[in-house]
Amino acid sequence: MKTVDLRSDTVTQPTPAMREAMMAAPLGDDVFGDDPSVNALQDQIAALTGKEAALFMSSGTQSNLCAMMAHCGRGDEYIVGQNAHTYRYEGGGAAVLGSIQPQPLAQDAQGQMRLADLEAAIKPDDPHFARSRLLCLENTWNGHPMPDAYLDSMTALARQHGLATHLDGARVFNAAVAAAGVGGNPLAALRAITDRFDSVSVCFSKGLGAPVGSALCGSRELIDRARRWRKMVGGGLRQAGLLAAAASHALDHHVNRLADDHALAQRLAKGLAGINGITVRTAQTNIVFADVADNRGPDLLAHLERQGVLATGLIGLRFVTHLGVDAAGVDRALAAVRGFFDQPVAAGSASRGRAVY
Ligand SMILES: *Cc1c(COP(=O)(O)O)cnc(C)c1O
Repeated sequence: MKTVDLRSDTVTQPTPAMREAMMAAPLGDDVFGDDPSVNALQDQIAALTGKEAALFMSSGTQSNLCAMMAHCGRGDEYIVGQNAHTYRYEGGGAAVLGSIQPQPLAQDAQGQMRLADLEAAIKPDDPHFARSRLLCLENTWNGHPMPDAYLDSMTALARQHGLATHLDGARVFNAAVAAAGVGGNPLAALRAITDRFDSVSVCFSKGLGAPVGSALCGSRELIDRARRWRKMVGGGLRQAGLLAAAASHALDHHVNRLADDHALAQRLAKGLAGINGITVRTAQTNIVFADVADNRGPDLLAHLERQGVLATGLIGLRFVTHLGVDAAGVDRALAAVRGFFDQPVAAGSASRGRAVY
């Protein structure tokens, strides 16, 4: 039986049509700047995000790192959420490789920092302090789309103090599709989000379903600086058009269908909410977090794995929907969870959960 893999939207396999687009892609050497498929993708994503230029990157981590290094110099700092991907899940790259000090701020359960905390964290020009240079937000965060008013107030305050703004938009297309709603225009919603930021990173290898890749979008000057850093961190790829063609295919064909993933996440959340022993914590866009009673999360994960259903979690569980999962798969996952709680509790059988971000 086919595995229902809900660990992450990074597990998607390229569709047959995407593979065809990859095989048909004209290629060149992108370090010389002459891979037509990379150049086409960069023009496409720059236009979609309303920026002058874009740069194809190996990963979201590389996009964010090069963005921070292009915005900030040695001894500068970036202000960021305590649980933001750039701060917590990217190996401390900005500090390690960029000599950029992070200034993390607390986030609430929806991922939002407080405006007053941001104001207090921005440091005056004084040799005691690192130079506050950049505000970094994330959208979606753990599946949560950021409200317009939050994005407005945070970026306006940053700008007022002379800070640049960067959006970690690994899943910004999910945010755009959620903001557009049924019958709305996700690309207009995307622009409304990205227009607020000086730079934006997007991932093609998550819900959009490409095998590899990300892009950093911003002014031509910023992108030229980022290109130097990308080369230095080993991200200068040669016939990268093979991968860029997959990303272009994803932009052409996989944006609107993110709404299907969101609907499946709601189907899953609704089903989980009806199971005794499970509490759904959040179910936003394509990500569902659920708490498991009596610390049985690791046992439940192991049970699900035996049933061909994969999820992640340490204390609670995380399920992510994507183009490799359908309604039947979600229903199978639900049946497997129900089956677990129908069994008598086995003593001392705890296994270790894994976290995947
Ligand atoms: C996945 C992710 C990244 C990093 O992307 P990789 O391609 O895995 O390096 C950055 N930010 C957020 C919010 C993510 O979810």
